[in-house]
Amino acid sequence: HLHDRAAAQESVFARMSRLAAQRGAVNLGQGFPSAPPPAFLLDAARGALGRADQYAPPAGLPALRDALGADLGVDGADVTVTCGATEALHLVALALLGPGDEALMLEPVFDVYLPQVALAGARGVTVPMTLDPARGWQFDLGALAAAVTPRTRALLLNSPFNPTGTVFTDEELAGIVALARRHDLWIVSDEVYDELYFGARPTPLRTLAPERTFTVGSAGKRLEATGWRVGWIAAPPGLTPGVLGLRQITSFCAPAPLQAAVAAALPVARAAGFYEELRQGYAGRMQRLAAGLRELGAAVFEPRGTYFLTALHPSWTAETLVQEAGVAVIPGEAFYAQQAAPAGLTRWAFCKSDAEIDLALTRLRAS
Ligand code: GLN
Repeated sequence: HLHDRAAAQESVFARMSRLAAQRGAVNLGQGFPSAPPPAFLLDAARGALGRADQYAPPAGLPALRDALGADLGVDGADVTVTCGATEALHLVALALLGPGDEALMLEPVFDVYLPQVALAGARGVTVPMTLDPARGWQFDLGALAAAVTPRTRALLLNSPFNPTGTVFTDEELAGIVALARRHDLWIVSDEVYDELYFGARPTPLRTLAPERTFTVGSAGKRLEATGWRVGWIAAPPGLTPGVLGLRQITSFCAPAPLQAAVAAALPVARAAGFYEELRQGYAGRMQRLAAGLRELGAAVFEPRGTYFLTALHPSWTAETLVQEAGVAVIPGEAFYAQQAAPAGLTRWAFCKSDAEIDLALTRLRAS
């Protein structure tokens, strides 16, 4: 059944984007920006074409590993460049897990985590986050601790968290790290939305537990170019060779000219205040969408990070919204595999233009 599961199901993100295109729907489903990437990134890519067109080393172009090392506060030698964060997560699962092992994660859960763990021959075990209509999404460290067994090898976390928008507090992170140390667990920290937060800056887990944390990141999310497929792994010091052996088999290297462009763009993004601008723009669009959805009777849970919000509405399903209202969103059930999804839950991407958000709201009002 592993074979069926991996091969037979179309990704919910691909499916909703396909339906949106077929129906002419506003696409607030899959998380990609509708604006073009920043000019400094595109200019760097134009400059790299014709100069960096052959294979990069499997670990990544040295310039990009160095730029990532400086950006993340790690040694560039501990960085592996991948084809997007999706490949990064898959490689870490393959490197850390095998038959008989368990990986603990929270649910709602991003769609690839469980199948990737299964492809490594291991078992993913989820612990529910609960949705309290008044207080929003709740994380329970005690429930996570109670799910650890002698077979647990890794904790797979995501902060800021897709789809709930949760950013773990320093107190919660300290509890997670203590748990990992007590049971000698690896920590896999999916931090693709590390620069997309609206309150306190998320603390990277690697700064609290450098000896056991694999950080996964994404140039696509950071620099608004999700189709470029440039992601990375920052491994604990000295452990990169264990990832690299696998990395050469899966795709050998990520696109070399795009790596060169990302290497040039990362320090520019920092120096030019690009991420601050992004956060400001997204905070406004989040409020615009949240206010509109509330007027339509939805309960809206504002995220502390990511460019998604979650909403509850008794009569909304992703299927009817795309077919009847012409608005594509992600069904809450897409993030549930082992627990029951809250009824009426949908996820809305606001990395879109004001005009698209307004059009979506107009259509919803009319439907
Ligand atoms: N991270 C994106 C989202 O949650 C989707 C990623 C993908 O489609 N592979 O919408």
